[in-house]
Amino acid sequence: AQKRYAGLRDLPAITRCGTLMSLSMNAGLMADLPSMESSGAEGVGLFRTELQFLTRPNVPRRSELAALYTGVMDAAKGRPVVFRTLDIGSDKVLPYMKPQDEPNPAMGWRAIRVGLDKRGILRMQLQALIRAAVGRPLHIMFPFIAEPSEFVAAHRMLMDEVAREQRLGHGLPSDLRVGTMLETPSLVFAPVSFFRSCDFVSIGGNDLKQFFFAADRENERVRRRYDTLSEPFLALLEEVIGRCEAADVPLSFCGEDAGRPVEALTFAALGIKRLSMRPASVGPVKHLIRRTDLRDLRVRINDARQKGQPVRRAVTEYLAQL
Ligand code: PEP
Ligand code: MG
Repeated sequence: AQKRYAGLRDLPAITRCGTLMSLSMNAGLMADLPSMESSGAEGVGLFRTELQFLTRPNVPRRSELAALYTGVMDAAKGRPVVFRTLDIGSDKVLPYMKPQDEPNPAMGWRAIRVGLDKRGILRMQLQALIRAAVGRPLHIMFPFIAEPSEFVAAHRMLMDEVAREQRLGHGLPSDLRVGTMLETPSLVFAPVSFFRSCDFVSIGGNDLKQFFFAADRENERVRRRYDTLSEPFLALLEEVIGRCEAADVPLSFCGEDAGRPVEALTFAALGIKRLSMRPASVGPVKHLIRRTDLRDLRVRINDARQKGQPVRRAVTEYLAQL
């Protein structure tokens, strides 16, 4: 299948109506990077940094992390890599942290909550990222922000580390972009001023969906029970899209749904122009984007929504006749 899409690799993800989309890939290992070349991804829209922490008995050293992040940026050959800071929690316990006995770890002490409460590890990770990116652009994204004050605090931590590096006479990244993941329903309704304070916003649909529908993403009995393209979730996405447009901040979607063609095209029709997905999905999604007229698709989607008919069916039928 990859071969089938190889011819598309260097072509832009542009729709028939002339909308240029940006397709990037999700990664978490150095070994993922070669897929950027083969898939035609424009960059890494989400680099999950958990693995380097989870696979070892003790805290990685700052210099080791910096070397790894440098390697990732080198392998990306100048294309952007968005590093997401640690999203660990009591379901992904670090061997050197006291296990927290929490009844609901997915909504427990995880991600930025740990980072802001036990600052040592996040601070060290931020230092490693800054050092890895000396002389080139650095994109950092904070996970699981549930209210603006958490983003403000994390952002301040980052700026403190930048100032420290400067004091020490070290080099700095040539550019710094700081974004938030949007994966809790609460953040959808944050004021536009919050969105304006972010350099970019990325919807983590895996978590956003599980909390919106109250359906555990790890539980086979319920995880596929609710449709991403159902009216309530589309209305939720429109809320985010509207706020990001009002704030003039770039919005992307980086959950698994971004790599599913029917979902991806629906997101595009709603106005989400940046998608980050597993590398193998880039070709198939690009193939369909290049055949789609988003104006036609929007008409079909609106029509289905007005009539209370399934949007999934309307989009699937549209794609089938391309
Ligand atoms: C998400 O929640 O959609 C996401 C991209 O983050 P993760 O899957 O790592 O929780
Ligand atoms: Mg998530």
